[in-house]
Amino acid sequence: MLELATTKVHDEERQGEAYAPFGNDPNPYKRKFYIESYGCQMNFSDSEIVASILNKEGFGATRNFEEADLIFLNTCSIREKAEQTVRKRLTEFKKLKRRRPSTLIGVLGCMAERLKSKFLEEEKLVDIVVGPDAYRTLPQLIAEADGGQKAVNVLLSREETYADISPVRLNSNGITAFVSIMRGCNNMCSFCVVPFTRGRERSRDAHSIVRECQELLDNGYKEVTLLGQNVDSYYFVPNGPSPSTGLNVEDGAKAPSRWEGDERAPGSDPITFARLLEMVASISPDLRVRFSTSHPKDITDDVLHTMAKYENICKYIHLPLQSGSTRVLQLMNRSYTREWYTAKVDRIREILPDCGISSDVISGFCTENEEDHKDTLSLMEYVGYDMSYMFFYSERPGTLAERRYQDDVPLEVKKRRLQEIVDLQGKLSHQSNKKDLNKLFKVLIEASSKKTDTDWMGRNSQNKVVVFPKENKDYKPGDYVWVKVTNCTQATLLGELV
Ligand code: SAM
Ligand code: SF4
Repeated sequence: MLELATTKVHDEERQGEAYAPFGNDPNPYKRKFYIESYGCQMNFSDSEIVASILNKEGFGATRNFEEADLIFLNTCSIREKAEQTVRKRLTEFKKLKRRRPSTLIGVLGCMAERLKSKFLEEEKLVDIVVGPDAYRTLPQLIAEADGGQKAVNVLLSREETYADISPVRLNSNGITAFVSIMRGCNNMCSFCVVPFTRGRERSRDAHSIVRECQELLDNGYKEVTLLGQNVDSYYFVPNGPSPSTGLNVEDGAKAPSRWEGDERAPGSDPITFARLLEMVASISPDLRVRFSTSHPKDITDDVLHTMAKYENICKYIHLPLQSGSTRVLQLMNRSYTREWYTAKVDRIREILPDCGISSDVISGFCTENEEDHKDTLSLMEYVGYDMSYMFFYSERPGTLAERRYQDDVPLEVKKRRLQEIVDLQGKLSHQSNKKDLNKLFKVLIEASSKKTDTDWMGRNSQNKVVVFPKENKDYKPGDYVWVKVTNCTQATLLGELV
C-alpha cells in the first residue's frame, strides 16, 4: 500500500506488532499469550483491553509465539490487502500447531466479525473467533476451546465500551497513550466496512475517560489521544440511557427530542465532544490532548473554540477528505460537498491559524474519472495538507458500494492516480515543513531518535516530528522543550534547542 507517512493513529510500522510483556511484572502466570495487532490504532487499543482481561485470568504476555499457549491475531478488514496479510500470517502458525496441538489460535477484531464462523471453515487451524464487542467472553471461549470445541462469539453490542477495563499499556513509550472514547460508527460511508465490523456508534462514560487520563498523568504520561471513528459525534448522557445516538448536537442546537423532559440530576447535562475535550484538557496544563478522527460534516465551531482556548489541546486536526469531487463524495455517502469541505478548512484556519491539517484520500472509487481525480488534486493543493494517508479503492464485501456500484476503475488507473496523489502530498508536506523554518516550537520529547542516540525525537502541537541534538543537556522523555527549526525533510523538522 502506498502511504506517505506515519502518525500515531495509523502506524504502518506497527502492523503485526506483538505486545511485549512487562519487564518487571511480578505476577506468576499459569499460561502465556501472544497477541499481534493489525490495522488502525483502535485495534492496538483493543489489544490492550484484551491483555487486561487475559491478565486477570492468569495469562501473561509473551513476545515469543513459540512459547505461547494462546496466539491471537487482532485483525483488520478495511482493505483486501489487510485481510491477505492476516491469512498469510496464519499459515505461518501451522507448523507450530502441528508440533503442539494444545496451542490455541484465536482471531480477534474486524476480520473475525466479518467472516464469523466461516473463518473456522476456511482456516482449519483457528480455534477461537471473537468480534470486537465480545472480548469480555474470552475466558469462557478459551475454556470451550481447551475442551476441544471451536469457540465463536461475534455478537455486536449497542452498549459495550469497556469503560471499566483499564487497558494494560504494553509496548508503550510511557509518554503518549491512546484513550478510546467511543466505539463503532453510524456513518455508512459506502466504501467502508467499519459499520459492519464494529457495529453501532456508542460513547463511553465521560467520567471513566477523565479518570483514565488522570491515571495516565499520575503514571508519568504527558499526552493522550482521544480515539473514535468519528469523535465529533461523541455524545454521552450521564445517568441517561447510554450512548449512542449517532446524533450530533451542533453548537447551540437543541438536544434531540428523546431527551426533552428528561428528569435527570443536576450535573447530568449531555456531554458533547467539545465538553469532553475541555474536561480532559482541564486535568492539567501539563497533559497534552489530541484526538482522531474528525468527520468534516461533524466538527463544530464549539470544538474549534475549545481547541483555541486551551494551550494543551494540540492544534492538529485529521480531517479525511476521501475525494475532492462532489459527485464522488455523494456516491461515497460522505454527506458533504467540495464547497462544504473547503468552507470547513477556512473556518479552521480562521479560528486556529496555526493548526496542522491532515487527510485520508482514496483514488479510483467507483466511476471516478479524470475530472474527479483532478478535483481531488486541486483540493489537496487548496488545503495544503501537512500529511495524508493515501489508498486506492479496495472493494469490501457487504458494503453499500459493493452492493450498489461497479468497481469499474482499472487497477492500473487507480494506482497511477494514487501515485499522483502521493507525489503531490510529498510536495505539500515539504512546502509545509519549509514554512516552519526558523520558527520556535514547544516539543514534547518522546524518545531518542531512531537514527542516532545523540538526538531526541518529539512532536510539536501540530503533530510534526521534530528531531534535534541532545547537546548533553539533562532532558528526558516527557520533558517539554523549545526547539528552533533549522532544516527539514519532507517528513521531519530538524532543529536545535533554544
Ligand atoms: N473513521 C475515519 C474516517 O471517517 O475518516 C477513518 C476510518 S478508516 C479506518 C481509515 C481510512 O481508510 C478511511 O478514511 C479511508 O480513507 C480508508 N478506507 C476505508 N475503506 C476503504 C476502502 N474500501 N478502500 C480504500 N480505502 C479505504
Ligand atoms: Fe468508515 Fe465513514 Fe465510519 Fe469512517 S466515518 S469509519 S470511513 S463509515
